[in-house]
Amino acid sequence: MIREGNRRPVLIAGPCSAETEEQVMQTAQELKQFCKIDMLRAGIWKPRTRPDSFEGVGEVGLEWLVNAGKFMGVPTTTEVANAKHAEQALKAGVDVLWIGARTTVNPFAVQEIADALNGTKVPVMIKNPVNPDLELWIGAFERFEKAGLNELSAIHRGFSVYKHPKYRNVPNWEIPIAFRERMPHIPLICDPSHITGKRALLQEVSQKAMDLNFDGLMIESHRDPDAAWSDAAQQLTPENLSKLIENLVLRSRELSDSAQEGLTTLREKISILDDRLFEILTTRMQMSEEVGSFKQRHNITILQEEHWRKVIMSRLEKAADYGLTEKFVRSVMDAIHQESIRHQIRVMNPSLQQNHEKKS
Ligand code: PEP
Ligand code: MN
Repeated sequence: MIREGNRRPVLIAGPCSAETEEQVMQTAQELKQFCKIDMLRAGIWKPRTRPDSFEGVGEVGLEWLVNAGKFMGVPTTTEVANAKHAEQALKAGVDVLWIGARTTVNPFAVQEIADALNGTKVPVMIKNPVNPDLELWIGAFERFEKAGLNELSAIHRGFSVYKHPKYRNVPNWEIPIAFRERMPHIPLICDPSHITGKRALLQEVSQKAMDLNFDGLMIESHRDPDAAWSDAAQQLTPENLSKLIENLVLRSRELSDSAQEGLTTLREKISILDDRLFEILTTRMQMSEEVGSFKQRHNITILQEEHWRKVIMSRLEKAADYGLTEKFVRSVMDAIHQESIRHQIRVMNPSLQQNHEKKS
């Protein structure tokens, strides 16, 4: 439920692809009836993984999109993957362009589009690249900024991995959070459709985006999602989209003075615990160095596989007792182990370690 007085996310919605004039207009009519959206989206040129998939209707669809936007009274947006797309979209009157994940990954393509748009003031939204590379994402912004385009926003659509049990594209939330730190002036929009790949998860991911202070959502919506020509499993009817938006809990970013005080006390306690964690880790590494000296004296290798396997197993078995996930315990133990090996190398092979440190 959207509570009064709380900011509403910017909502960009519309079908994954424009399929027919009628499908675009009917989707727009239902969106107008059920939801208050801020921008209408539809893919005209679709970068598809396999060659025989539907690759978009092409230029003819631009007019359908623009007309549907006029009917709704909202601006329109579509994906452009090269200079020709950008020119055709602008000529047809599309208001905002977006750069897809498969284009952001390619600096030549990004530069070509930025050059084609130089001299226009068109707003551009840039999706994260398919690979989890923050610098590449930021680099795309720099290319558009250098071309004089200042109305830029970012879309987080998750990152490709091979066969993930839950997501189509893993969110890696730490990357959009780091993006925010580096580019605080850029509005950040979440695309739960391409993160989840399935409509059952859209509410959960949209809520998370709101709790992480995203400024808006881009969600695919189709009049008949199961019959969609692309991304059928993740699209929602406009009516169900309106329910999703209704069910979002929008929390305030700012705190009252008394809430601020309570939070400060809790954060101080956390900070004390963090200090203790690092003190323990320091002691832990001193122990590792003692073990390193022992191994050096007895001329044995650092890695004792059987021992390490047992350590990991015993920690993973306890994960649930501590209320922690196995994934978290595994990554903490791996990080501790890597740091421990570094400390052991330092005592066992002092000259090697120095060389390594000089190089890196
Ligand atoms: C899309 O929005 O339809 C799309 C193809 O997105 P992405 O570039 O995130 O895969
Ligand atoms: Mn799609």
